[in-house]
Amino acid sequence: MSDCIFCKIAAGEIPCRKVYEDDDVLAFHDINPVAPVHFMIIPRRHVDSLQECDDSHRDILGRMLLLAPKLAREQGLKDGFRTVINTGRGGGQEVFHLHVHIIGGNGPRPL
Ligand code: AMP
Ligand code: ZN
Repeated sequence: MSDCIFCKIAAGEIPCRKVYEDDDVLAFHDINPVAPVHFMIIPRRHVDSLQECDDSHRDILGRMLLLAPKLAREQGLKDGFRTVINTGRGGGQEVFHLHVHIIGGNGPRPL
């Protein structure tokens, strides 16, 4: 996916404010935060969205979700956080490389 912005971030071709990385997963701050803390967790391997995931993504999806509370705590969200996965155009997705938004620090809000 040579024209995918998140693949370019994962490859180090576009800079980001990194939160976490390992061989399979990367987390970085959103460039346009909607709350005091707003970062996302992405798989390094490109997949368009949750809609394109299958059994082969079970492990990476689990890893991404299990990282969320750990990284949220490290970013100062001691009290909890929101997770958002926009899926497909109908779900408001703008960047078609799967990502989980981790958002918090501005108090509770309704869905
Ligand atoms: P969505 O696809 O609607 O779930 O959201 C895509 C998110 O990616 C938006 O919140 C953007 O602010 C964010 N974004 C787009 N480009 C970058 C970038 N280069 N670095 C960090 N975040 C980005
Ligand atoms: Zn990608």
